[in-house]
Amino acid sequence: MTESAQEKLISTLRKAVSRISLLAEGNDPEVDSVIRQIRHNIAKGADADKIQAMLSAAEPYLLNSEETHLNRAKQVRETLHDLIDLLELHHKKRLPCSEKQALESLIRLHWQSPPFWPSLFSGYLDLAKTTLSLETSKESSKEPLIKRLFYRTKKQQDVQNSQEIMAQISHTLSSLLTNLSLSNEYDEQIIALREVLANSNDLQQLPDLLDEVINLIVISTGKTQEGLTNYLNQLNLQLASMNASIVSHYKNQKTLAENREGLNVSLEKQVSDTSLASQSATDLNQLKELIDTRMKVMTTTMVDYKQQMIVLEKETHQSIASLKSKVDRMEKEASTMRTKLQEKLAQAMTDALTNLPNRAAYQDSILPLLQSSKKSGKKLFLAVCDIDHFKQVNDTWGHQAGDKVLRLVTKQLLSTLSNKDMIFRYGGEEFVALFVDSNEQEATQKAESIRAAVERAPFNVNGAPITITISIGMACCRMSEDHDGLFNRADKQLYIAKEAGRNIVKVDQTKE
Ligand code: GH3
Ligand code: MG
Ligand code: MG
Repeated sequence: MTESAQEKLISTLRKAVSRISLLAEGNDPEVDSVIRQIRHNIAKGADADKIQAMLSAAEPYLLNSEETHLNRAKQVRETLHDLIDLLELHHKKRLPCSEKQALESLIRLHWQSPPFWPSLFSGYLDLAKTTLSLETSKESSKEPLIKRLFYRTKKQQDVQNSQEIMAQISHTLSSLLTNLSLSNEYDEQIIALREVLANSNDLQQLPDLLDEVINLIVISTGKTQEGLTNYLNQLNLQLASMNASIVSHYKNQKTLAENREGLNVSLEKQVSDTSLASQSATDLNQLKELIDTRMKVMTTTMVDYKQQMIVLEKETHQSIASLKSKVDRMEKEASTMRTKLQEKLAQAMTDALTNLPNRAAYQDSILPLLQSSKKSGKKLFLAVCDIDHFKQVNDTWGHQAGDKVLRLVTKQLLSTLSNKDMIFRYGGEEFVALFVDSNEQEATQKAESIRAAVERAPFNVNGAPITITISIGMACCRMSEDHDGLFNRADKQLYIAKEAGRNIVKVDQTKE
């Protein structure tokens, strides 16, 4: 059998047992307790094995109940026949024969079915009423004049007769009441009824008394209580399903876990308390009160929970809003910081006088450039450029004039370089130019352009034109060499250029 087919079978089995148990209920308090327990476990999802075990355990109770039920039914049948016999014994002539036979055939058909017992007793009541009324009317019309004159004597005989009948009826009904299996709370009512039956000598009271007995039979068959118990069980299932849907609804709201747990436990407790209490309760009023109380407690729990949710939701909203504003503020602060940092970094990497990248920027750039040059095989040329006799500029025209010269030299340098070339103010009046992905000829031309641009620049101080020149030493990076080696070779060429008379470009020609 497939798993789903098996599940379906078990589900059907659950339903069947649950429904049959409803039919079996109301016949015996002991059995009622057992079958309610079975229904409770089925509602909780008992599997096939568990259901079988429960049914086996319940079997002795059910068999015993069957026997009890049969004995009670026999008692009812005998009582009804005894009552008919009483009528027949004392009022044989007036007992309507067809009605008596009709009642007897109804008894034969339904004596084993408790729901019919009240109607069987009602049938007897009708038969008794008819018999007694016939007796009264016949007596009064047929009474001879002489007898009517001795009315007192006749009346005395009637009273004696009535007392006898009532005594016998009392005895019969009393023993029936004993076997009705009513709970203790009806004890007082039964004792009172027996007392009235024992002391009554008026047959006219019989209908009312019988009415009371019928009421007790109705209660003993448990049909009214059963209806209420079924309702209570239904209510329990609804509460359980409501509980389950609430639990599943709030399952994903992890932040509300504690409250959810509280509500869950509280509702489950209410449901299980109701279930247990409904099994032990026998009184209708008690059951009604029980439902009212449980519903009130559950409503209060739900209202409390709802209020807690509203407060929590509000608090969560507030904390989210505050968290959001904090995050916004932090983001703004971080952005400002980032900008400031970038500015500071840029400042730290830029020379204030010439706005060229400074020596720190050079040091950041040169190592990655050397690495990628070695990796790609593309040649990198390093040119150290130093203004000639700059000290003299300062000495002759002043430090500010020297600064102005530095800015103008920068302008000339930038005017000769392409986008992929780089230039740094290395320090004082020294600049370093880097020519990436170049060859000796191209790099030499670029260095020469720098030198020529500075030489021809229209410098003037206090309106008088002056000539500024620059010397350049250049070297090409080698695979086996580090930065210092390259720089030193270029610097050596600068020294050579200075030695050679300045305003010259010298390129390292030494072999690797
Ligand atoms: P050489 O041709 O051999 O390079 O001679 P030089 O005078 O250029 O070289 P030296 O190293 O003797 O002098 C460099 C001078 O540059 C010294 C220093 O006062 C000046 N100097 C360095 N930085 C600045 C600056 O930022 N502004 C000004 N005005 N002068 C500076
Ligand atoms: Mg110098
Ligand atoms: Mg110099």
